[in-house]
Amino acid sequence: MNAAASALATRLAGIDENIADAARNAGRSPDEITRIVVTKFHPASLVRELADLGVHDVGENRQQEFTAKAADLADLPSLRWHFVGQVQTKKARAVRTAASAVHAVDRVKLVQALDRAGEGLEPLDVFLQVNLTDDPARGGASPDGIEELAEHIAAAETLRLQGVMSVAPLGEDPARAFARLADYAERVRRIVPGATSMSAGMSQDFAEAITAGATHLRIGTAITGARPAHG
Ligand SMILES: *Cc1c(COP(=O)(O)O)cnc(C)c1O
Repeated sequence: MNAAASALATRLAGIDENIADAARNAGRSPDEITRIVVTKFHPASLVRELADLGVHDVGENRQQEFTAKAADLADLPSLRWHFVGQVQTKKARAVRTAASAVHAVDRVKLVQALDRAGEGLEPLDVFLQVNLTDDPARGGASPDGIEELAEHIAAAETLRLQGVMSVAPLGEDPARAFARLADYAERVRRIVPGATSMSAGMSQDFAEAITAGATHLRIGTAITGARPAHG
């Protein structure tokens, strides 16, 4: 292993230990938590190194970069690609082609586009993104639209609603924000009882997310190191 690969292995092991500690502190089993490594802006070679270290779940947030990387790494069928970014409706088909899960489903038009793109394909796991801020530009459905959106997803034949997803707002205690998300998750489960997952927690706040019940952590820089500059 070269020095960079060994640093990556060390960071990955360290974060996994922190995840296990946070789970035990919350009285939860680490086994119920999926750690997704967000590899956006990093080259496909880094994803390959992660796969060599046993990582299965990786996340991307830009369609073109995602499509290219997934094609580059098509020889690694053990990878599960999570699309964690905003999806433009016209990119729904491209995203769906390579993704195992789409985390930021936040509007009815996107539900319809993803569903139309799914004809003849395996069902797609999706998360209903909730906006925990007052700023619509941050992405996510506003809390008062959760039920309607969940009903649309439930009615989409090729989509499987897994649960809710969010990003903690800047400047708010993430523990408080994720507690709100847990309430929204409960509201979604009243409509789709099987939607028991919660995608929450990034490099800076995954411990708080675990306490609030997160099942899918989206961790980038704490594992990959700083992202290369991008244009
Ligand atoms: C980039 C990104 C992450 C990972 O962020 P880090 O702070 O690097 O851990 C998680 N979720 C989404 C939606 C992202 O875009």
